[in-house]
Amino acid sequence: MPICSHCKHEWTYKQALKSSFRITKKCPYCGENNYEDNKQQGGLFAILSVVAFMLLNILFDIPLSWVITIAIIYLTAFIFIRPPFIKLHSEQRPYW
Ligand SMILES: [Zn+2]
Repeated sequence: MPICSHCKHEWTYKQALKSSFRITKKCPYCGENNYEDNKQQGGLFAILSVVAFMLLNILFDIPLSWVITIAIIYLTAFIFIRPPFIKLHSEQRPYW
């Protein structure tokens, strides 16, 4: 589970899941802001995945309804699997 970069408290799964939708992740224990490691930020990965699923549809002629269903299942799993792997930093790091 993610550990606060300020107070070193380990967050619960529920707290990590809730914070995974925000860019600035406020620690529930000390109230300080944490930032996710840009290299593993989920948003970009999720967008790239959707593009990959669109390519599946175009390249392999898979019905769009299948692609959408697979994409929804994949993104839902991704959202729920990701929280334990979030790494927190005390400051926002550049994207490069
Ligand atoms: Zn904290």
